[in-house]
Amino acid sequence: MRLMRNQDVYKERSEHGIRSLSCLPELIVLDLDDTLWVGDIDYTEGPPFKRRSNDSITDRRGNVFRLCPDAIRVLDVCVDLKIRIAIASRTTTPRWAEHALQLYQLSSGQSVASVAPIREMYQGSKQRHLNQIVRKSGVDRERTVFYDNEYWNITDVSEIGILSIYTPRGLTWAKFCEGLWLHEEQQMAALSSNGDGGDASGEAEEEDPSPAEGGKVPDDDEGAAPAESIDEPVMGG
Ligand SMILES: [Mg+2]
Repeated sequence: MRLMRNQDVYKERSEHGIRSLSCLPELIVLDLDDTLWVGDIDYTEGPPFKRRSNDSITDRRGNVFRLCPDAIRVLDVCVDLKIRIAIASRTTTPRWAEHALQLYQLSSGQSVASVAPIREMYQGSKQRHLNQIVRKSGVDRERTVFYDNEYWNITDVSEIGILSIYTPRGLTWAKFCEGLWLHEEQQMAALSSNGDGGDASGEAEEEDPSPAEGGKVPDDDEGAAPAESIDEPVMGG
């Protein structure tokens, strides 16, 4: 299972350091409540929400609701490096969340919603959310990194072979970097186990894929929509 490390190792990583990685994830998936933003949106007074600044909005009573302090920096870098972004939330107020995502802005002025076009927001196991996101994006789960402040979501999503980073203090820069570096380690390990110690450019000649190690096919949780079938092998760990 892919879990957290001491984030101090990662907090001084720079954008330049990220660019030195040989293999970036193709997709990051973000939880909302207490990961992308501070608090639960369903505990606000609700819409109409109004933009106050790029990273803060107000609810209908004027209470301020903010993104986590490093969120815009992370989103800016993802857009710059062409790492795709998706949202996986168990919110009970998806319309409120949708409205908020339309209002928060990156440094470029793009809305968060516009740079995270795949948004799975409903109750249920996050295995379902992630399976839907993987299917809709077309990105391999081995090239996806998931961030969430709830430990059980990390456990659930790890079980379907997706690198999952526990963010108990929200999406910090250090946690974002932790996901990128662990992703690279996994990609390099996968290449080594395939007998190729070369770079992680993805151009190496592939051998026959080995059966899944460590991952498992997700259950059809809570009688919800059928879980996606998994045809690709997943990395163990
Ligand atoms: Mg959360």
